[in-house]
Amino acid sequence: MKKAYSNPCIRCGTERIILKTWKEKIYDSTVINTETVCPNRECQKKVNSDNKKQQDKYIALKLRSEQRAIDRRITKDAEKALKKG
Ligand SMILES: [Zn+2]
Repeated sequence: MKKAYSNPCIRCGTERIILKTWKEKIYDSTVINTETVCPNRECQKKVNSDNKKQQDKYIALKLRSEQRAIDRRITKDAEKALKKG
């Protein structure tokens, strides 16, 4: 049995409580996921909305960089085609 590790809330520093654990099979290994929440409900709500903001930002960034990569590829192909003449 693994010792419980400290997992303080990022907002208020209170030890977070385990909401649920579930097993997930990734390829050949089973990973145990744990969802923890702040015991302070209002605080957890704020953490959730912050997380969502972060996630949205991350997704937006990712989409943008993917789009850039596609643009670059198109430019390269265009250059190649031009060089070939
Ligand atoms: Zn908290």
